[in-house]
Amino acid sequence: FNAIIKEENDAPKKDLSAYKNVWVFAEQREGKIMPVVIELLGEGRKLADEIGTDLCAIVLGNNIEDLSKELIAYGADKVYLAQHELLEKFTTDGYTKVITDAINEIKPEIVLLGATHIGRDLAPRVAARVDTGLTADCTKLEIDPEDKKIMQTRPAFGGNIMATIVCPNHRPQMSTVRPGVMDKAHRDDSRTGEVIEIDVKLSKEDMRTEVVEIVKTKKEMVSLTDADVIVSGGRGLGKPEGFELLKQLADKLGGVVGASRATVDAGWIDHSHQVGQTGTTVKPKIYIACGISGAIQHLAGMQSSDIIIAINKNANAPIFEVADFGIVGDLYDVVPALMDALDRA
Ligand code: FAD
Repeated sequence: FNAIIKEENDAPKKDLSAYKNVWVFAEQREGKIMPVVIELLGEGRKLADEIGTDLCAIVLGNNIEDLSKELIAYGADKVYLAQHELLEKFTTDGYTKVITDAINEIKPEIVLLGATHIGRDLAPRVAARVDTGLTADCTKLEIDPEDKKIMQTRPAFGGNIMATIVCPNHRPQMSTVRPGVMDKAHRDDSRTGEVIEIDVKLSKEDMRTEVVEIVKTKKEMVSLTDADVIVSGGRGLGKPEGFELLKQLADKLGGVVGASRATVDAGWIDHSHQVGQTGTTVKPKIYIACGISGAIQHLAGMQSSDIIIAINKNANAPIFEVADFGIVGDLYDVVPALMDALDRA
């Protein structure tokens, strides 16, 4: 079921024709561009080409000139560089002010941010300050061929419908996009582009918080979004120890272990492994679902994987509807047999 939601309110308050170009917020941490930015540049390129405008990246930080080259190589026609000592570390106040000022002055038509912790923190604050709407957590973006507006699709009502949202009367059109959903842009170091320094107007009075120290989590976090192979386990494992078997298979395939929410809620595995609507959205080359029924909220996070292999003892489990290969059987028989076959290969 797909619902189309439009703002039905008043006529435009601004001159919408003044708004041009597609912007990607190039989130960086410690001078490294986040993987979702490469995905946004891939998607932003398609949108910009369809509307016939430039693709731009805006990057904030201090001493980060080198990142412009990388952003251009991944498809940006222009890079807006906002550098200031108060932007050295991310703060909600500093970043919100600088992005808001830049949008008010340069007037982009579309602004895309990754739905990371930082993107989710910034996007609604910026949207409210520039008086526009925001579609959070998008899984699909398209340009309406008739009026060239962006159609932003996201799961709604607990994942039971996909809602397509348009923003006809305000600019910019803003979306946060789930990491791991869009295709990455290809790098071409021969590309050229323009780098524009933003005159950052920021003083200590603008900052209500000061970052004293960044303490990195000691917990081993699994990188589901970057993995080529994910071996995921569900309630069908029957016990937490079942994940040890899946880890052996994942290790043999150079992959990582994923999980359904049922197993995370049961305390069998950490939430960082959870795939799905309230977990991570993944797009690996191979996704092996072991003892997972295929609830819509789980599928929302993995159904665009290249190859899906499902192992389930119930031949009617919904997971088989999205699987490219299905094995009906007990995972405790099938997984060891698969590992034997891999050892012999
Ligand atoms: P079950 O549905 O219980 O399925 C277990 C499967 O294992 C069954 O199909 C069974 O046939 C099979 N099985 C049993 N024993 C074996 C065996 N020995 N060998 C092989 N197969 C066997 N879920 C997520 O996963 N991710 C999310 O992000 C998420 N977000 C949610 C958000 C909301 C708002 C809501 C309401 C729910 C969300 N859920 C999410 C929960 C989701 O609805 C399901 O409850 C959950 O995915 C079920 O997990 P499961 O497939 O492991 O368990």
